[in-house]
Amino acid sequence: MKKIKLLVLFALLAACVCSAVACDFTIGHTYDDEYTYDEYEHWYECTGEGCGAKKSVTPHKMTDEVYALIEGESYLCSECEVCGYEKKLPADGVTVAVDTATAQAALDNAEEGDTIVLTEGVYATLYIRKNDDSELIESDWAGGGNHTYKRTVKNLTIIGQGNVTVTSIVAEAQTYVPGGNFNSLSTTNPRLNTYIDFQNLAIENINFTPDAGRVAVELASAGQKVSIDGLLIKGCTVNGTGDINSGNRLFQSEIQNTADYTEKGNAVLTAYRRNITVTECEINNLHQGLKINYVENLTVTDNNFSGIKGRDLLITNADGDIIISDNTFDGSTERVLRMNLKGNLTMRGNVVTNWNGTDPEMVKIEAVSGATPTVVLEDNTWMGKTDAEAKTLGTVVYPTV
Ligand SMILES: [Zn+2]
Ligand SMILES: [Zn+2]
Repeated sequence: MKKIKLLVLFALLAACVCSAVACDFTIGHTYDDEYTYDEYEHWYECTGEGCGAKKSVTPHKMTDEVYALIEGESYLCSECEVCGYEKKLPADGVTVAVDTATAQAALDNAEEGDTIVLTEGVYATLYIRKNDDSELIESDWAGGGNHTYKRTVKNLTIIGQGNVTVTSIVAEAQTYVPGGNFNSLSTTNPRLNTYIDFQNLAIENINFTPDAGRVAVELASAGQKVSIDGLLIKGCTVNGTGDINSGNRLFQSEIQNTADYTEKGNAVLTAYRRNITVTECEINNLHQGLKINYVENLTVTDNNFSGIKGRDLLITNADGDIIISDNTFDGSTERVLRMNLKGNLTMRGNVVTNWNGTDPEMVKIEAVSGATPTVVLEDNTWMGKTDAEAKTLGTVVYPTV
């Protein structure tokens, strides 16, 4: 009984409200105090039945677009700051991660051309490793059901949105034993032997905090079964502890040589590193900044190095075009650059301040045995000295041909 009475009461009230706000030419329109909107603009609408008059029709003032994971799907979202209209578009080719587990799943499922967006937060070490799409090279390696795989990582971008911290990004390319300290899905195989072929990997806008002895972007491995053709590290920060024994670096990739790997006589992978760019990074208090060997075409530009304990840049067997430009090196306690070279080096617009090194040279470059490299220095400042002064003083030493 009570319910029915209430319903009647509401019906009467509704009727009163309707008649009170209906279009009435004598008193004008009565506008809602909440916005009405479509996908382009918002306005106040007359509440009069069937009237539809609008006032204050204004385009939306949309916030910046951000990626978001909503019910397991990736979207690109923004909203109107005035009326609250939400724009949500499916983010094609983008996988949004919100924590270590979703980021790791995105890396394991990444396909050619994918972008993985890490939303604001703190992530543990992320691994690039053998996945379900990896090519099975050999299923009974050395007997006992050991498996060899090759994974190709092509045109993959990993980008932080907002303030994103990741311990390290690590390639697991080598042989792993189950129960070891690694994460290569090795529980399903007695032993897992993985090659990884990177073709255009970009890592952007991430703050790294590598553990002791580890590297922020660690594409090296003990087995060296990695090839890199196209790597961009951009807008990243890495902060170390200032301990020369920490082993912390922004990037490290080394082999003793350009190595051709075969399995049962079939070519699997040639390990090399080409076309690497490090730019707009803040590199602080590490053991070393970058340690790379057998590299062809390397650009290190617009970075700030601070308080590096070992060498800021240790680049050996460098070939092709090596460009080191517009970086600052502050408070280094070893050489800024140690290099041996067979290609063409250009150092331009770098500034060295507060150098504390004990070596006689800030920069020491030698030719790879038998090679005739070229070195061009332009517009660098070495503790206030010009390139010519630094060369005369012997603080910058390089071969001339
Ligand atoms: Zn009206
Ligand atoms: Zn709006």
